[in-house]
Amino acid sequence: MSTKRDYYDVLGVQRNASPEELKKAFRRLARQYHPDVNKEPDAETKFKEINEAYEVLSDSQKRAMYDRFGHAMPGGSGMGGAADPFGGGDPFSTIFDAFFGGAQRSQRGGPVRGADLRYSLRLSFEDAVFGAEKEIEYRRLETCSACRGTGAEPGTDPTRCPRCNGLGEIRQRIAPFNMVTVTTCDMCGGSGVIIPIPCRTCQGEGRVRQPKKIKVKIPAGVDSDSQIRISGEGDAGPRGGPYGNLYVMLDIQPHQYFVREGNNVVLELRLNVAQAALGDDVAVPTLDGEETLRIPPATQTGQVFRLRGKGVPYLRQNGRGDQVVVTRVVVPPRLTEQQRKLFQELAKTMEPERVSEDRDDSFFGRIKDALGL
Ligand SMILES: [Zn+2]
Ligand SMILES: [Zn+2]
Repeated sequence: MSTKRDYYDVLGVQRNASPEELKKAFRRLARQYHPDVNKEPDAETKFKEINEAYEVLSDSQKRAMYDRFGHAMPGGSGMGGAADPFGGGDPFSTIFDAFFGGAQRSQRGGPVRGADLRYSLRLSFEDAVFGAEKEIEYRRLETCSACRGTGAEPGTDPTRCPRCNGLGEIRQRIAPFNMVTVTTCDMCGGSGVIIPIPCRTCQGEGRVRQPKKIKVKIPAGVDSDSQIRISGEGDAGPRGGPYGNLYVMLDIQPHQYFVREGNNVVLELRLNVAQAALGDDVAVPTLDGEETLRIPPATQTGQVFRLRGKGVPYLRQNGRGDQVVVTRVVVPPRLTEQQRKLFQELAKTMEPERVSEDRDDSFFGRIKDALGL
């Protein structure tokens, strides 16, 4: 799907690298490729790549998603979700944080959105073609109803963190440049509050893992690379934060007869030599049931017939693709005595075939033409 480099390769670390090792590798590479320092033409691209890799791998939740799903991770750059480090906001927050202690700016104060989840749904060929409604069941983190996500035992309140005085961060001035460093408060983890008596239902987490059932509407015409996003059905965010999304990935089963090519379906139709030579009316399966297809006399292997509008509906649009029927002439694997005699009679009346002089007339050429490839 993409030619993006593996994030671990970008940072040159092992997959089991500790957060410290990641940070070290990132700092070293960021210094090396920072566009202010490095004037090589590809330095900026490299720098962005390094930034993006570190942004994902330094966040334990994103890293876990990346480990499981690679660049296709929900909310990941592969899906256009992750913020481009140069695309607005504060381009150097990542690098600043890594150099000076790693304050998680986005997590300070306001509620954090929960993780996105993925669900792989097995779907029959027909359900993908015509659409369906499916009930799925999965487990997700939900905001604890006992404490409403605060993590404090009902009847008790979270209190202001004494170490950071509720700010969630600790600022320090350091020599030699009298620079201010900002670090996340390690007592409250940046939230600014501590919970003296944790909620018994969620052990102070504010979230509990629970089974969830929902109905998923599959639109007609989906393909195996389609995914269905259901907003708000992912995990709850910590401390009462909003829910992430659920991504339903489709695992579409093959069909007994049809092979799907985008919105067309291809069917191989076998004909015996007599049908091919003399022509015949043949019953062929279509997605809408059987239909009679007229095979003209002298039909060859690889000849293409098109049943217009009998293919797969266009996703969220009107109209359907076609059914493409490709013929294959089958010589009988063995002959009865009578058939052998008849073929021998026939042979006397026919010229032997020669090597084809017309390459465009080939089997594959015709299928390609039919599919518009
Ligand atoms: Zn609770
Ligand atoms: Zn604190």
